[in-house]
Amino acid sequence: MANRYAPPQERFWAKVAKGDGCWEWTGATWANGYGQFNNQSRRCLAHRVSYELANGPIADGMTVDHLCRNKRCVRPEHLEAVTRGDNVRRWAATITHCPQGHEYSAENTRVWKGKRNCITCQREAKRRAA
Ligand SMILES: [Zn+2]
Ligand SMILES: [Zn+2]
Repeated sequence: MANRYAPPQERFWAKVAKGDGCWEWTGATWANGYGQFNNQSRRCLAHRVSYELANGPIADGMTVDHLCRNKRCVRPEHLEAVTRGDNVRRWAATITHCPQGHEYSAENTRVWKGKRNCITCQREAKRRAA
């Protein structure tokens, strides 16, 4: 059992298998394949946590993209913060998840004014506002 009182970065790196190439997340993953890290009861995307540990906070409107296309990889050198526009352009044909990594499945997608909205994110935003 990991010590839940250990500093977050210690708990984080304890779950990473560092190899010569990708550093794979060995902890829990989201249904969509991205690593999941519980930070003070907030469930985060592991690759975003890694990016922030290495580079500091991710600026508003930026999303962290995998250069290696390995969703479980958390190696900072394989991660790049891009504007959502870049990311959307790059993934235009293959966007299957919202910027927070939730799948745009039939149950999780609300189409409004021609745009897809992530129901999970909307629900979380509502809960945060409550
Ligand atoms: Zn990688
Ligand atoms: Zn979402």
